[in-house]
Amino acid sequence: MTGLKDFTEPGTAHPQIGCPRCDARYPGGPVFRIFPHHRYVCTRHRYWIGPPDINRPGPDLDDFPEIVTAQRRHLRLLRRYGWAATYDAVLTGFMFCAHLWENALNVDLDPTNAPLGLVLKRAVWTMRTMIFIPPGTERETFTTAKLFAAVYPDAVNIAELIASPGYRALAAGDDGRLRLFCAAIGHRIGVPDYQPQDDLDPIGHWIAEDCWHDPSPPPTTFAAAPGHRRPSHLTKATTKAARDRHDNSVTWFARKRSPGNVLLHHRTVHPVLIREWSIRMEQFAGAIYQSQRTKLRFWTPAPEATEKRSHDFTGEKKRLST
Ligand SMILES: [Zn+2]
Repeated sequence: MTGLKDFTEPGTAHPQIGCPRCDARYPGGPVFRIFPHHRYVCTRHRYWIGPPDINRPGPDLDDFPEIVTAQRRHLRLLRRYGWAATYDAVLTGFMFCAHLWENALNVDLDPTNAPLGLVLKRAVWTMRTMIFIPPGTERETFTTAKLFAAVYPDAVNIAELIASPGYRALAAGDDGRLRLFCAAIGHRIGVPDYQPQDDLDPIGHWIAEDCWHDPSPPPTTFAAAPGHRRPSHLTKATTKAARDRHDNSVTWFARKRSPGNVLLHHRTVHPVLIREWSIRMEQFAGAIYQSQRTKLRFWTPAPEATEKRSHDFTGEKKRLST
């Protein structure tokens, strides 16, 4: 699970602090390890260990067996579909959850019409977060890794469809096949009658623009260059840039408790937020905005006032033929 052999395994490579109970076996104290991309939980000790963050220990998961189970399901995906499809699918699942935790599918702007299943999922994510990061203690307890932990079971649940070539083919297929995909993903996001939208819908974006492409790979700057890693890199895993990013996140989170946005800004999800074929945006906020809209398959231009479209949900939407 850890150690040098992981350098040679494809799709690996974060130097990060590990599970403190595993580390207790080492007389020298906490050990920086190289974790593969698919290791988020120490299942032996039920401890959150990923993704790489500010190197504060992750939460203890004794009271969250569903998060530990999600790691086992994640490893089953890996055995079934390989690391590249699994890496892309789990990050895509995190990205969908992050958008859904904010205003995807218009949940916050129109709460009275929000699907109950999705509202309940969001409540569970928020409840876990309040236990991991009690309100008022953000300066001491916040890490973005804890927000990833809060949505991990649902991210893996979604990833089981995203990683599957069969479901990807349904998503890319004609309206009849797409309807089968929508029923399956809708069930997993708590929106049983889910219909793809051209705006505020990261799933609609993925169906229209991403699902037929190869999986997006990890960034290459560090992960694919084992020759550039030296042991000294591991002891300096918390750089000033990482510290600054963390400080920005904690300030933002303490002020707004806006967890989905913090997740979307974390570098872990960048490979699926800005894909090789994504429209290039000047600002990162623009890339986040683009990742939940599409002008392809589900776009029905309004006859006038097209510039108002971005937040206008009164216009007629294309629905799948029934
Ligand atoms: Zn452990």
